[in-house]
Parts: sequence; structure tokens; C-alpha cells
Amino acid sequence: MEASFTIIGGGIAGLTAAIALRRQGIDPLIFEAAPELHPVGAGLGLAANAIRALALLGVEKEILAKGRFLEGMAFRTEKDALLIRMQTEAITQRVGQDNFCIHRADLHEALLQHLDRSRIFTGKALESLKQEGPRLRLRFHDGSERLTDFLVGADGIHSAVRREVLPDVQPRYAGYTCWRCIVPGALPGGRQEVEEILGPAGRFGIVPLAGNRTYWFACVNAPRRDPRMQAADTAALAQIFAGYPARVLDLLEASKGQPLIWGDITDLPVGHRYDHGNIVLIGDAAHATTPNMGQGACQAIEDAVILAAEIGRHRSDPAEAFRRFTDRRLERTRMVVRRSRMMGEMAQWQHPALRALRNTLFRLTPQAVFRRQLEALYNVDLN
Ligand SMILES: Cc1cc2nc3c(=O)[nH]c(=O)nc-3n(C[C@H](O)[C@H](O)[C@H](O)COP(=O)(O)OP(=O)(O)OC[C@H]3O[C@@H](n4cnc5c(N)ncnc54)[C@H](O)[C@@H]3O)c2cc1C
Repeated sequence: MEASFTIIGGGIAGLTAAIALRRQGIDPLIFEAAPELHPVGAGLGLAANAIRALALLGVEKEILAKGRFLEGMAFRTEKDALLIRMQTEAITQRVGQDNFCIHRADLHEALLQHLDRSRIFTGKALESLKQEGPRLRLRFHDGSERLTDFLVGADGIHSAVRREVLPDVQPRYAGYTCWRCIVPGALPGGRQEVEEILGPAGRFGIVPLAGNRTYWFACVNAPRRDPRMQAADTAALAQIFAGYPARVLDLLEASKGQPLIWGDITDLPVGHRYDHGNIVLIGDAAHATTPNMGQGACQAIEDAVILAAEIGRHRSDPAEAFRRFTDRRLERTRMVVRRSRMMGEMAQWQHPALRALRNTLFRLTPQAVFRRQLEALYNVDLN
């Protein structure tokens, strides 16, 4: 009898893993906690590594049709002085299409088109699991149970699967909190680049999306779970970012009445393995990272493709595939978590001397250095 596979979590990692496993002839069941597959969220940047992984699965066309490529990425000060602008075309020419932005809901929708929805069960939050001989007994919040041979934990940073196998690995706060919003309408002046404005009050990012929409995010240093931050609306943010370029304040004004997504920025400490016998963790459940490199979802997509490739190679022993998957993923995902955390710390520096140092570093670093770093990041073996 064929071994059964179950995926916990119907986010980007879970859905992509299901598509990748289907290509290996395995048809997993997916259990998702949310009552409906109605993904919420704001914008998402997908880099060349993720686009290449999606292309290997043959799903990139629908995804690319729903988003847009941007010409570059610029960092500026709160006085609107340019620190550095990276042109994306050079990277695209060398490693594949880069700097693609999409609404998270559109990405989910495009992934779902490649799956049989009758294999996805919503309103099924995993509560606990127990090893029963060679199999696992999964118990859900609604009291239902399921037996499976192999389990893929793709249930995000607060993973219930990880809680069972690695109870000591807990999310850690990065020191800053974040608001995100999507506003109908393009940016005045028709900017075609991702922009981050770094200043004493914090960071404000602006990303043009397809469909004449603009995504923005704002990161501010604050104590964890600060009720004042939780209560902040766009008017409060306009006060925080007073003195930033007019387009920031215009965007905040245009956001009145639009859903504002707020959350503290957290990641996972590194050092643990992702394979645990017949259980494997992928995506944020395994190695959640701060969003500073825009690589969290990209790494989740890479995970899905590489996990399926290893399972294809070790069909008779998926636990061995899980081990090999961890061996291949550990160093890379640790690097992303560490580098992204460090980038976030620098971007959030408030002390004037540190900000001046950071801005000088940005100005002095040749574009070629940033480009080489990105090329190295995107150069990953996905087979
Ligand atoms: C502000 C911000 C900006 C970001 N920007 C980018 C970006 O530009 N580019 C990029 O690549 N990444 C970005 N990321 C990271 C990216 O969002 C995540 O890395 C990605 O969503 C991880 O996908 P996942 O499927 O592993 O986890 P999730 O998206 O968290 O999905 C987990 C799923 O599991 C479900 N679930 C949870 N618990 C259970 C349970 N007990 N039982 C069953 N189901 C459960 C959840 O409902 C959810 O559907 C950003 C993150 C943040 C916070």
C-alpha cells in the first residue's frame, strides 16, 4: 500500500508542497486551521529564486499574470535623498526574473488552481499528534482524528507541529512592529520601483502592485505587543512619520478605511533540524525569518520543491528524504534568518550617529557588491 502524506497548513509552503508532491505522484491531504481558504495579507515580493522554483513546478505563468515586475529598488532617507538604487534588469539577465510583486491573496488563488480542493480540509486546526507504531495519529481541535504515515508541518511560525517536536523553539521578537496596507490607485508620478525610506521614526516601504494598487508597510521600534501600537490607525502613523516625503503622508491619507494589518516582527532562532522521523517542518514552521530580505515565502517555495525532489529520490524511505532535505536546507535558511535579522537591525537604527553610518555605508557600497550578494542568494540548486 502507498504511504500516506498529510500536510498541516494551507499557506504558501503547504500549497506549494502539495503541488510539488503531486508531481511526484503523491497526493497529500491538507488540513488548514482557517474556516475558509480566504487568504488575507498584503503585498509580497518574490525574488528570482522563488520564480525559478515555481517554474520548475510549471505554475509560474498564472502567478506572473497576477503580479508585476518592478524595475528596481531604491533606498532613501526621510529627507528623500537617494542612498542607493539597484536596477533589477542586470540580475534578471544573469539569474532569471527578479523583483516580482504580487498580492498575497492572488498568489494563493493561483496556487489553489493547481490543486484538487476536495483534498483540502478547512476549519481543521491541529491540536496534537502521537506516534502509534510507524504511523502518526493527528488530533484536531474539533475532536476529529486522522492516521498518517508521513507529516509535513507547514503551519507557520506558531506551528503546532513544531510545538510537538521542538517545544523549546519559540518565536523571538525583532524589536519592531509593522503595519501593512494595500491602497487602490497607483503612485503619483508612476514610480516603477520598490522603495524604502529610512529615517529616525522608522522605515516606510512602498511597492506598486498590479491592478493599479499600491502596497505599503511601516516598521517602528516598540516594546513587544505594545497596546499603543496595536491601537495606532493611519492618523497615528501620519504623526509618527510626519516630516517624511509627502507621498508617505498621501498614502496614509489614502489608506483611511482600508484594512490595516498590524503585527510585531518575529522570527525563529536557528540551530534545530527540520526532520523528526516521519515528520518534517517546512516554511515558517521550520525557519521563519524577519521580512527584511523579502525571502520568507521564497524560502518556503524552495523548501517545497527541494522536499519533493528528495522524496522522489527516496521513494521507499521518505524519512531519509526528510533527513536529506534538512541537510540541504539548514545552512541556507540559517543564513537568510541571520542576515535578514541583521539587515532589520540596521534599517531600524535610530541613533543619529548609527543612522549616519548606515547611510554612508549604503552610499559607498558599489552596486556590484549588492548585485553579487543577490546573485549568490539566487543561485540555488533546486533539483
Ligand atoms: C510584514 C511581512 C512582510 C513579508 N514580505 C515578504 C516578501 O516580500 N517576500 C517573501 O518572500 N516573504 C515575505 N514575508 C514572509 C512570508 O509572509 C512568510 O515567510 C510566508 O507566508 C510563510 O509561508 P508559510 O506557508 O510557511 O506560513 P504561513 O503563511 O503562516 O501559513 C501557515 C498556514 O498554516 C495554518 N495553520 C496555522 N496553525 C495551524 C494548525 N494548528 N493546524 C492547521 N493549520 C494551521 C495557517 O492558518 C496558515 O494558513 C513577509 C512577512 C511579513 C510578516
